[in-house]
Amino acid sequence: MIYLIDGMSKPITFYVLTEKYIETNKFNYDEFYKKKLNSFFENAFLMNIVMSHDKCIICNDDIPEQGATSTDGFWEWSTCLFHYVSHHNIRIPKPFEEYLIEKDFKIGKYSKESLVQFREETKQYEIDWELYEDEFECFLKNNDISYKELLNSGDDEKYLKLENEFIRSTKKKVFLSYDLTKVNYIEYS
Ligand SMILES: [Zn+2]
Repeated sequence: MIYLIDGMSKPITFYVLTEKYIETNKFNYDEFYKKKLNSFFENAFLMNIVMSHDKCIICNDDIPEQGATSTDGFWEWSTCLFHYVSHHNIRIPKPFEEYLIEKDFKIGKYSKESLVQFREETKQYEIDWELYEDEFECFLKNNDISYKELLNSGDDEKYLKLENEFIRSTKKKVFLSYDLTKVNYIEYS
């Protein structure tokens, strides 16, 4: 799942791109636009840095995890979006595309204060880790595994393997831990 946030709309807008969207929305930007698009993404700033990687669902390459994000000071998006656009010609959602065309794909000026404010605003929609843990525990229970026993076993490899399985199976559920009543939420599939 890839997401974009329009930080200029009130309330802010979450755009979610499902795997189905990635698989079915190819679009050949002409060379002129492609160059500009690439340079926009290359010049964007990293907002959230996450050390782990995901696999590209098309070519299986290592790509930044969906929680790793970039920004131009006004929009924020999953950094891995760049891979899908540049390597697989995936069309970016219309509202973001229109925004980029309007600003001619340039990273505009913005103040540090506005970036901090944007960050504060998006922060409240991040995963509720406490709920995440409860959900993970339920997932384990459904697989007849005790969370406590797993923790006490010290078997990190097994823990990680199960956690990855859980994340893969419930990405959507984890995302729904955000308080979606306070945002515009648009899903592209
Ligand atoms: Zn790929």
